[in-house]
Amino acid sequence: MTLINPTDSMNPYESVNYYFDKAAEHLDLENGYPRMLKNTYREIRVSVTVRRDNGDLDDFLGFRVHHNGARGPYKGGIRFHPEVNMDEVRALASLMTWKCAIVKIPFGGAKGGVCCDPSTLSERELEQISRNYIRKVDLVIGPLRDIPAPDVNTNAKVMAWMSDEYGKRHGYMPACITGKPIAIGGSQGREAATGRGVSYVAIQAAKRSGIKLQGARVVVQGFGNVGSYAAKFLHELGCKVIAISDISGGYHNAGGIDIPKAWTYVRENKNMKGFDGADAVSNDQLLEMECDILVPAALGHVITSKNADRIKAKLIVEGANGPVTPAADLILEKKGIPVIPDILANAGGVTVSYFEWAQNMQHFNWEEEKVNEELKKILDKAFHQVADNATAHKVSMRTSAFMLAIDEVARVSKLRGV
Ligand code: NAD
Repeated sequence: MTLINPTDSMNPYESVNYYFDKAAEHLDLENGYPRMLKNTYREIRVSVTVRRDNGDLDDFLGFRVHHNGARGPYKGGIRFHPEVNMDEVRALASLMTWKCAIVKIPFGGAKGGVCCDPSTLSERELEQISRNYIRKVDLVIGPLRDIPAPDVNTNAKVMAWMSDEYGKRHGYMPACITGKPIAIGGSQGREAATGRGVSYVAIQAAKRSGIKLQGARVVVQGFGNVGSYAAKFLHELGCKVIAISDISGGYHNAGGIDIPKAWTYVRENKNMKGFDGADAVSNDQLLEMECDILVPAALGHVITSKNADRIKAKLIVEGANGPVTPAADLILEKKGIPVIPDILANAGGVTVSYFEWAQNMQHFNWEEEKVNEELKKILDKAFHQVADNATAHKVSMRTSAFMLAIDEVARVSKLRGV
């Protein structure tokens, strides 16, 4: 098969499948396997009907996609965002398949989303959407079938409503959803896990790239769950976080942003608007700043062929899913800027979701220290496997990660019998 020339206009699902094809060129997959492994297993589109506070009835489009379940129950977050669509959810579900395989946790890939803008919804409306969505996908989720989790604009509170709704039909079953508040079966360390994982992976990647973490200049796009925790842990490791951003814009301070202050600010004010510890910059300027480590941790396709040439970071660690388009990925590869791909860099979240699920199945709780230790062991091992394979095959970290993940899922599919 000839690899197509990537463009920025590829949709997210085409982008993931491009990365798949690029990695598959180095593998000896049986005929028919590439198509089977790229395709989604099941796609559900639902209408989430809610009575608004003003009395009107409103419908929001919801999705749940099961990509591949060869390695275990489907697993993936639920996103609430006005631009959620089927192609995006397919892509995110596929990424989950490869991510779980890279860190070798026994899950397949899934993703869900509701096309809504949470900033325009009251708390009651948000709760209704969360509960109604679960009622609509009830038949295809469950602790041994598909286990949702938080993603963009969903959090522990939303997971609490969702697991409560699931429990109404099926009885007490905390393992049906991860990312719950600790009081109702959540795991110690889950909220911080993705950002913590980004920092663990950054430590190893910096070592390999010869970057000293002490004083390393870090730029983080997105200051939500992933970005704010990644910034916090990198700051604690001695890095100088010189710029952060969120939906309200970018904030730059060459001397280093006071991350604990930004942390408190965003939790008190919902976003960074009005933060006075830095100068305002645009999100585009922020991505192009000279720095040692760039962590895009907001949305997908923010580094494209239009700005990739202007990226001055020495290392990119993908906190978000799909922040780099395939066309930009090629440019960065040619420029020699290493990119630690999403399926490795942000796998800390699903890894601790696995710990949460395992604790729930056993009705037993782990201490936070154990969660963080086990997380570090898994991510360090996965990082070195991907890096060594990249060196051995002279490929990028992304192609290497896809190679290992595809090989693993193909092997398991063959063992189970297609
Ligand atoms: P979140 O909703 O907690 O935070 C998103 C952040 O991005 C917010 O700070 C928001 O203001 C900012 N943002 C939104 N639009 C923006 C824009 N146009 N420009 C700049 N910033 C913008 O979401 P999250 O859970 O932190 O997820 C962020 C990314 O990480 C997503 O790609 C998600 O799929 C991925 N991810 C999340 C997890 C997890 O456990 N939450 C795990 C793996 C991957």
